[in-house]
Amino acid sequence: MRIFKFGGASVKDAEGVKNVANVLLHEGTEDVLVVISAMGKMTNAFEKVVDAFFYKKEGLKESLNYVEDYHINIINNLFDKEGEIYIKVNYLLGELSGFMARNTSRDYNYVYDQIVGFGELLSTNIVSAYLSKIGVLNKWIDVRNCIKTDGNYRDAKVKWDETKKAIKNVIQAKELNITQGFLGGFGDKTTTLGREGSDYTAGIFAYCLDAESVTIWKDVEGVLNADPRVFTKTELLKEISYTEAVEMAFYGASVIHPKTIQPLEQKKIPLYVRSFKDITKLGTCVGRGKGIQPETPCFIVKKNQILISISAKDFSFMVEDNISAVFKKLHDYKLKVNLIQNSAISFSVCVEDKYNRYDDFYNDLKKAFIIKTYKNTTLYTIRHFDDEAISFIKKRGEVVIRQINTETAQLVVK
Ligand code: ADP
Ligand code: ASP
Ligand code: MG
Repeated sequence: MRIFKFGGASVKDAEGVKNVANVLLHEGTEDVLVVISAMGKMTNAFEKVVDAFFYKKEGLKESLNYVEDYHINIINNLFDKEGEIYIKVNYLLGELSGFMARNTSRDYNYVYDQIVGFGELLSTNIVSAYLSKIGVLNKWIDVRNCIKTDGNYRDAKVKWDETKKAIKNVIQAKELNITQGFLGGFGDKTTTLGREGSDYTAGIFAYCLDAESVTIWKDVEGVLNADPRVFTKTELLKEISYTEAVEMAFYGASVIHPKTIQPLEQKKIPLYVRSFKDITKLGTCVGRGKGIQPETPCFIVKKNQILISISAKDFSFMVEDNISAVFKKLHDYKLKVNLIQNSAISFSVCVEDKYNRYDDFYNDLKKAFIIKTYKNTTLYTIRHFDDEAISFIKKRGEVVIRQINTETAQLVVK
């Protein structure tokens, strides 16, 4: 079986949905499983619904209208203003309202998953109905019956044994299966695998089905040596090894979700990253032992980093006991560490404050340590760096930390 994944950008409007159908017809629809994300930026839009609903803020009605209009507009452009898809979309929107009317839970993460999951349920129903309309037989699959997870809402962990069994029971070989990315099932509840998790969904299915390949369809030619939104000149990487892809994802290359590669690597399933805008191009192949082709420096940028320099109040060395106390706090406050550097009396870390906990961390830690904070720094990681690549980054600002090992250079720039 081949697994295809289409992200939000590929189904952001009616033209996008038609294009997905064209890609499938071009590539063949037999023995295929298609994983689809929410349309366009709908997950962000649903997050607004969650916030307004959960915190009883203003704008609930507006945010709900926005997601409703967005989908209705797309189906108006794909169908003849009647038929089952209208009933289905209204049914799903009704289910969402029903959930909000009944919910008594004060668990934000639980409520988040129950609401945000409608993005993928809507998109897959629309794509499936459109394919049927143009005569492409397909089977819509509820991924919550396939990917079984724990109840760790918003960051659910896959229960592999249950998932393997469920997938084998539900997925029809030889057919065209259409399912949701990002979601999982915990009992009869919806869970999510973490933002941008649909790539990972494709990896999970591939692993469980011993798939022939996974193809992620993107609005770029493939994996580039730098984020095209940040760098004007980029180069397509034709081939990269699993290791290289994991390293790039680890350092923050947002083109592939970090968890995606591991299940593929275990079964040596190749991953193709291709453009849904130009299906004649080959894109990138991530596979076994291929190193990196062409051999060129790869740039990964992480903005909005907080650089923290920590030293002990009594001028004592920053060694095991001090450092482990600092790390415990970093973990407690959910600060993600992206770089570490230590000297005898100070210890520097570059962190990401996804959950707005930095001030609490600072107030807690300042009782025992002297802390200097530099907000809004940028962390540049260069894989396979050379002198020219480092000079190029140096031009972008004042380098406050520089760390180099054989393959990778990291620079924190103010
Ligand atoms: P999806 O629609 O599948 O969710 P994303 O928007 O998450 O797609 O990812 C595609 C985007 O990732 C591209 O439009 C590009 O701007 C960005 N990107 C960042 N780094 C890279 C890279 N190294 N190579 C290619 N694209 C990259
Ligand atoms: N729709 C989800 C998100 O935007 C999952 C994904 O697209 O990968 O995070
Ligand atoms: Mg994405």
